[in-house]
This record gives sequence, structure tokens and C-alpha cells, in this order.
Amino acid sequence: MKGLHVAKFGGTSLADAAQWRKVRAIIEADPRRRIIVVSAPGKRDARDQKITDLLLLCHEMIENGIDMEPVFAKIRERFLTLARELNVPLDCTALLDDIEKRIRKHASRDFTASRGEYLTGKMMAAWLGATYIEPADAIFLHDDLRIMPATYPRLAELLEGPGRFVIPGFYGKNERGRITTFSRGGSDITGSIAARAVHADVYENWTDVSGFFMADPRIVKNPKHIAELTYKELRELAYMGANVLHDEAIFPVRDAKIPIEIRNTNDPHGAFTRIVPSRPTDPSRVVTGIAGRKDFVLFQIEKDLMNKMVGFGRRVLQIFESYGVSYDHSPTGIDNMSVVVRADNLGDKEELIVEEIKRVLEPDSVEVIRDLAIIATVGQGMIHCVGFAGRLCTALAREGINLRIIDLGASEDNMIVGINNEHYECAINAIYREFVGDP
Ligand code: ASP
Repeated sequence: MKGLHVAKFGGTSLADAAQWRKVRAIIEADPRRRIIVVSAPGKRDARDQKITDLLLLCHEMIENGIDMEPVFAKIRERFLTLARELNVPLDCTALLDDIEKRIRKHASRDFTASRGEYLTGKMMAAWLGATYIEPADAIFLHDDLRIMPATYPRLAELLEGPGRFVIPGFYGKNERGRITTFSRGGSDITGSIAARAVHADVYENWTDVSGFFMADPRIVKNPKHIAELTYKELRELAYMGANVLHDEAIFPVRDAKIPIEIRNTNDPHGAFTRIVPSRPTDPSRVVTGIAGRKDFVLFQIEKDLMNKMVGFGRRVLQIFESYGVSYDHSPTGIDNMSVVVRADNLGDKEELIVEEIKRVLEPDSVEVIRDLAIIATVGQGMIHCVGFAGRLCTALAREGINLRIIDLGASEDNMIVGINNEHYECAINAIYREFVGDP
């Protein structure tokens, strides 16, 4: 719908009354912000607990026959303090009593977890004088959490009419009519679904950072801010750990070509990042961002004439599949194939997998290299930029960093390198200096 914005507020934006007031000021500053999606209150400071975590703890305690009273008291206190300080015209005690009773009667884990968003949504709607939309009436999910297409027309119907609407994030209803939550951080997905349902002009995602930076500020000093990136660039950066947005949240809006803006509730007029379907390539800015992760494991399998053996790759990957280990990359050569997996996905299955590879494929050798870090350097169309790979490799060589993997592979927007964990920070800084300049 023309002129309509969906504004989703995350847990830290709703952590206490002062944050709620900022949220209200943001909503009221722009009449297009008519559809509001809320998370449950998050941490007020580093030592605090998120409401969702407290609810999950209550569930666990009840399931284990432990008295949840001290934990539920904290939840009650946080909501009642908010209601009192903000003068919310709603009987929160009655809602809390009902939730407590249901949790004590062994409500499901998802139902219990969803109550933070439910209460926040009820309170926000009452406080703003907006219409409350119940996700269980509108967001329909398959058991594997795929969104049923009927969700969109149903939500669009409920969101018709004047005034503002508030929808709790994080949950919907499954095929059997039961409350189901997305994975953690899933209110971002609800915001995206709502934006698509009403064909919003923009999906505003309000959080506690001003969007994305070109590198992790804990590694590179004062990295440059990213003003605009494509959905694809975001996927590549987010996958490698730049997690500001739930990584499934882009799909509903991407299909409808609705831009996402990552904005900072604590700095509403400051910089923000806009995620768009496409953007013109800027030759002076080849690299959009650099992200990475430590702790991968590389399996290197050598076998002469591997390239002539039909089904070799499939059988290798099948072994990983049979142990329930997903793989992240698989660079191949003529007589060798390697498979890169995350150490936490692999667990203690390394030896079993090596044995199986030896048994099934009779390779000339199998080598396992641990403590590997993977760095993705992301930028639209960078692979077409002459000399790009050379510059990146030279920048690392200058620091004496040995490259274990180079993968220019399948994506035009991404170059992957694998190095030892111990060189991770140094490598990110070297790449940043080469393409962006001194921090
Ligand atoms: N409250 C949920 C969580 O803590 C969902 C969300 O905030 O998006 O994961």
C-alpha cells in the first residue's frame, strides 16, 4: 500500500519505560508508520535477562517439577513496572495471572516463549490506542516453519482500515492450530511478513545499532558504515556472522522488492543501512563488507583421477549427510576434493567420517585441518573487477598469512578465503586496509 511503513522494534528498544517512550516518539514522528511489530522486552544492561529467556526457564522448571515462582515473579515485575511507569490502560495483572496459570498447567514450550511478545503487543496497542492483531489469527506456519501463502491475504485483510496496528512478533499458528514460534530473534520475520502482506513502501527494523559496518568494530577500529547494500550482499555477510537481522527475515520482503532499513532506536536521526533489491555498481567501492568466522574444519581428500570418477563428489557429501553434518564449502581440484564444515556442526564425528571416507572411496589420502577461519569479502560484481583477487591475496601475503583456501566459486559477489584461526583478526584488518584504506 502506498505510503505505508512497517516498523519493527527489537528487544533492547523495548527493554524499559525510557525505551518505550523513544519508540512512541519514533512512531508518532511519521504518519506512515502505521504497522508496528514488537519483540518482547530484552536486556536493560549486560547482566540483565531477556523476557523470552525467563519464560523459557519457567517452562523448563515446570517440566522438571521445580517451583517457577521466583522466575515468574521477575517477569511479572518487569511488565507491571512498565505498565505503571507508562500508564498503560490495560489490566496487565489479569493477563499475567492467566499466563502463569497456563504455564503451570504445562503449556507448550512455544506457547510459553511467545507470551513475551503477546503481552508486549497487548500493552503497546493499548498504550498507542492502536488495533491489536493476534498472530495466531493471521500467521500460518508449516511444521518446518515455512510460511503458508494464506498468511498474506489474511494479514492484509486484518490490517485494512485507518489508524495504527500492533502485531506481536515471533509467533504464529501451525497446521494443528497450535502456537508456534520462529527460531530466536524471529520477530524480524514477522515484520517482514507484515511488510509483504500490505505491500509496504519500507520495512523499518529498529534495533540498537545503526545498521551494518564494513567490518566488525571489535576487530577493525572505526569501520565505515554501510549506507546501502543489496539483499544478496546482506545474505553473504549475515551468513558469515554479521548478524543484525534474523537471516530468514529477508525472504518475504525480498520477493516483493520492499527495502529494509536497519535503524537505531537510540539514534533515530542518525545513520542507517538500507537493504535494497539492486543497486548500481560503484567502481570506486568494490568491497561492501568483510565478515568471517573462526573454527571451521577442512577435510582434504586426494585421489588420482578423481575428476574421471562418476559420483565421487556425491559419495563424499553423502558421508557427511549420513552423519547429519552440513557442509559450508566444497572447493575441488582435479585429483582432490575438500569439504569445509563448522567445528560445532561436526562435533566428535571427525574420526568416524574419515574412516568412512577411507572405506567407501579408498582415497590416496585424507587430511583434516582444524582451527580454520573463513573470511568472506563481499561486494556486488567484484569478481568482474580485474586484479581484485590478486590484491586480496597480496594484502594477506604482506602480513605473512598463509592461505589454506581460496574460493571465488559460485557467487559473483563474494570471495572466500580460509586461513588459520590465529591470523583471523590480522587478515580482516589487512583486507580492510587494502580496499577501504586505513581505519
Ligand atoms: N523474543 C524473541 C527472542 O528473544 C524473539 C525476538 O526478539 O525476535 O528471541
